[in-house]
Amino acid sequence: MADTDTPQAAAAKACDQRYFEALAQGRFEIPHCRDCARFHFYPRVLCPACGSQNLQWLAPSGKGCVYSVTIVRRGDGDYTVVLVDLQEGPRLMSRVVGTAVERVHIGMCVQARIDSVDGMPLLVFVPSAESS
Ligand SMILES: [Zn+2]
Repeated sequence: MADTDTPQAAAAKACDQRYFEALAQGRFEIPHCRDCARFHFYPRVLCPACGSQNLQWLAPSGKGCVYSVTIVRRGDGDYTVVLVDLQEGPRLMSRVVGTAVERVHIGMCVQARIDSVDGMPLLVFVPSAESS
């Protein structure tokens, strides 16, 4: 496929860029629809709930719950791949850090944090204070 520069692809790329630029500046922001007041993720050109283009970028609370967890075993250190349901609705893929991988479990309350991995901003989650 040589159509990576279709207007749709370019717009999608711009959405990703907007997301990572904010992360690089220490801000976790995701698209919010002005028409139906829903957040969504990953960033899209149209609201996936109602199709509106009337979107704005807002910072969610960063609070969420672990929906699923996979432990990836690596020689240089195990890590988790989790799906987190944000309080605002969207589900996103990330990692839980700051605790032993065995302690990460479904339903765990977590809080978003921006880490830097190899010089790239990466959104991760840490156990939230009220989580045991
Ligand atoms: Zn909408």
